Amino acid sequence: MYSKLESKYDKIFQELKRINRFMYDNPELGLREFKALNILTEFLKENNFKIETKFCNIETAFLATYNSTKKGPNIAILAEYDALPDIGHGCGHNLLGTTSIGAGVLLKGFVNEYGGTISIIGTPAEETFGTKVQMAKNEVFKDIDLAMIVHPTSGNYHLRSTSSQAMEALEFKFLGKTSHAAGSPHLGINALDGVINLFNGINALRQQILESDRVHGIIKNGGEAANIIPDLSIAHFYVRSKNRKDLLSLLKKVENCAYGAALSSGTTLEISNYETSFLNLITNKTLMDLYEKQLLSLGIEKMKDSQSSGSTDAGDVSYVCPTIHPY
Ligand SMILES: [Zn+2]
Repeated sequence: MYSKLESKYDKIFQELKRINRFMYDNPELGLREFKALNILTEFLKENNFKIETKFCNIETAFLATYNSTKKGPNIAILAEYDALPDIGHGCGHNLLGTTSIGAGVLLKGFVNEYGGTISIIGTPAEETFGTKVQMAKNEVFKDIDLAMIVHPTSGNYHLRSTSSQAMEALEFKFLGKTSHAAGSPHLGINALDGVINLFNGINALRQQILESDRVHGIIKNGGEAANIIPDLSIAHFYVRSKNRKDLLSLLKKVENCAYGAALSSGTTLEISNYETSFLNLITNKTLMDLYEKQLLSLGIEKMKDSQSSGSTDAGDVSYVCPTIHPY
């Protein structure tokens, strides 16, 4: 089977290289990946995949399926193709998307022989909106037996799928009352004080949180001019923990810092999510061991564990379907 795969791979390699280069040269931000959507689905259509665009009501998402005539598992390969502002494809999602469609086309030979379905799911905006979260909520993975995605990495090693952090993206909006800072400061309520108190509260909290926890933020809005007491100030934070349980406990403490900040500054506080929140990745060990065994048999010398310091929307997939996310 491998020799058959190799000859098939040689046939599609130049085409994959062209697609990868095109996406690298035409980076598109999340939910605007129209060129990538076109080139990826064109290739899959040419290879007899059935294409559904605007999948899950997301404009640049797609589902490409290939059914063999025999019964068998439904194997999902997830594709990403969004880029970063200013940098372009810094994260390598051009390679990720290309790898996923290449793997899907090669797997056709397997399902023709052993049965089953290949579902290549185009999942836009991993860097921002994390559309896999919406897909997991909408039961896209209900009939999928396993999901795989492989991310490029800059090191010399293949990295095992391990875990990623559960993450919540919180906006803290403090509302006060404007007044002239020199003429009538006693009439104002300083919204920026709410944000500054929040940062100080969180900085004090750091000593009492787990080593695996992360809380990091910025001031999005700190006022308009130094002589005007700001009536609005906004902070954005990412709060991360190794799993959902730890995250919920940490979130409560961070939110209490915000309530305290509002109370001491006399401001009104609104808390909301400014981006999609991600669950932690739970790697399916059986699938990961198989993946590693196959790579080693192909001459890869050794693999290392990946670091779990970041977050990915594949975490939400792993809560509803056996998943691996190696690098
Ligand atoms: Zn990435």
